[in-house]
Amino acid sequence: MKTHGGVTADCTALEIGEYIDRKNKQIFKPILESRRPTYGESKLATILGFVCPQISTARAGTFAVPERQEGRKGIITKRKVGIKKDDLSVTILETVRGEGGLQNLFEADIIVAGGRPAGEHDGLKLVKELVEALREQGVNAEWASSRPTVDAGYAEYARQIGQTGKTVRPKVYVSIAISGAIQHIAGMKESETIVSINHNAKAAIFSHADFGMVGAYEDLLPELIERVRQGFTFGVKVTK
Ligand SMILES: Cc1cc2nc3c(=O)[nH]c(=O)nc-3n(C[C@H](O)[C@H](O)[C@H](O)COP(=O)(O)OP(=O)(O)OC[C@H]3O[C@@H](n4cnc5c(N)ncnc54)[C@H](O)[C@@H]3O)c2cc1C
Repeated sequence: MKTHGGVTADCTALEIGEYIDRKNKQIFKPILESRRPTYGESKLATILGFVCPQISTARAGTFAVPERQEGRKGIITKRKVGIKKDDLSVTILETVRGEGGLQNLFEADIIVAGGRPAGEHDGLKLVKELVEALREQGVNAEWASSRPTVDAGYAEYARQIGQTGKTVRPKVYVSIAISGAIQHIAGMKESETIVSINHNAKAAIFSHADFGMVGAYEDLLPELIERVRQGFTFGVKVTK
């Protein structure tokens, strides 16, 4: 069945609004506003569809998964799709899921993300050590990074958090030497608790952080790692 409606894929925000077409003196209300990065992720586009129904798909991790409600019912309409094998010009031989997607970043309770200096100074060694210490305590922890760290080759793209990377919402997001540029914030602002380490007390990241530590991460992380080894898990409950 053709709906003649549009599809907007990979959206990072959805809203219901109205559109005033001044030229044709027409108001479309309500209208679905589907927002998504475009032009190599350098701009944010709002896509409007004037024919209903409108369909949008969301970028993984962008929206919180609501609590499952048993007993909810929807209207299921079964339609016969008349596609024959000969209608398809492409055949899927096999689906192979690689590690590259790093799905654990969407499930991790704690994400420790390293910024440019943490890559340049020690290749994210201390960031990874903190994650390892948390895992030893039974926490589902994962490491991630900002874009410059990926661009410089210290982390693979699958670990990039932000507007052009992944959007995550862990229980605790620990940012290590990350400035807090809006493009990075876009990917982690929904985290339940944000802990930030930065040696500049005026760094933008501190306006988003619930807890902040001002100082060089090289000085602060070894002590933090030691505390984790003694049982500190940022308040995340572990079932060992
Ligand atoms: C279209 C577009 C899309 C983008 N998409 C993304 C994206 O998806 N994700 C992303 O992260 N960025 C993205 N960016 C880049 C973004 O604008 C920032 O440049 C980037 O986030 C900065 O990364 P950073 O904080 O690691 O590095 P920097 O900006 O270099 O900041 C490093 C921070 O570390 C602090 N610091 C330095 N040394 C130490 C130390 N020894 N101890 C403690 N703190 C220290 C500094 O005070 C500073 O605040 C995008 C940019 C554009 C234009």
